[in-house]
Amino acid sequence: MGRVFIAGSINMDVVATADRHPRVGETVAGKQVLYFPGGKGANQAVAAARLGAKTTLIGRLGKDAFGAELRTFLGAQGVDLGSVREADTHSGTAIITVAESDNTIVVIPGSNELVSVDDVANVPLAKGDVAVSQFEIPLPTIAAFFTRAREAGATTLLNPAPAQKMSGELLALVDILVLNETELGFLAGVELSDSDEAARIIDVARGLQARADQTICITLGKRGVLTLAASEEFAVQGRAVKAVDTTGAGDCFVGALASQLADGVALRTALAFANAAASISVQRMGAGPSMPTAKEVAAVL
Ligand code: ATP
Repeated sequence: MGRVFIAGSINMDVVATADRHPRVGETVAGKQVLYFPGGKGANQAVAAARLGAKTTLIGRLGKDAFGAELRTFLGAQGVDLGSVREADTHSGTAIITVAESDNTIVVIPGSNELVSVDDVANVPLAKGDVAVSQFEIPLPTIAAFFTRAREAGATTLLNPAPAQKMSGELLALVDILVLNETELGFLAGVELSDSDEAARIIDVARGLQARADQTICITLGKRGVLTLAASEEFAVQGRAVKAVDTTGAGDCFVGALASQLADGVALRTALAFANAAASISVQRMGAGPSMPTAKEVAAVL
């Protein structure tokens, strides 16, 4: 069984709730302040570890109270933190204000911006492992990580979120690209929405494909996921569930897919598993705390 290595962000989400948003220059009294461990790298690592994969996170935490708290939380989830180093700054932090059923978010990357090429230089990647990353750490670090992974015979999986432009060289290092329709549209330079027909979405994905053997999985929320692989295209239908909070659904999907691929499971079966895992996560509040266990996924498959 291979391991999952995730190079990515770790954040503390600080959520303030209030009756209404303050206007510029105004102070309003809030109701509650809540702290949620987050960041795409951390969320995906929690998902993979909860599902039983041997999971190593590569990242940076700040020298602050959030750094210590995040380390404790991730360790308790079974994530290997031997490659999470300290940075001489604050931990990645998202300041979220929730009011009038709407929210505003300010994200300060902090220590995540300092995840360096050096940090991925000695990761013990081997054949059968899965190397995962997202766009909340510097892109040159991801390129170095994926180059090492491919040299070692590991599979590279990129979740290019939040969307930003990337070079053709980086895209060519990706074995499996997992993204939603908005991110696909952004990278391909076309308008796409989740109501677009499957055939059109697959066509756009084909235009983006950097290598003939590159797999592209487009997640479509409750519609499930479309996949363009080397010799086939297929859909995995979304599962009919009552969603209460879709935050982190994409991260659950990516972590679950990586856990299955590291276990040697074939792509189609691994995608059905990830689809089921993510459908469980949307029925619970939060990101990290909503990630299911393997037993819970097995029960719905
Ligand atoms: P987010 O940014 O909120 O984490 P995303 O846009 O990256 O999400 P989505 O496509 O919304 O990702 O969701 C990822 C996967 O989660 C879907 O492919 C599906 O498997 C599952 N999923 C999401 N929403 C639902 C839902 N309402 N019902 C069932 N499954 C869902």
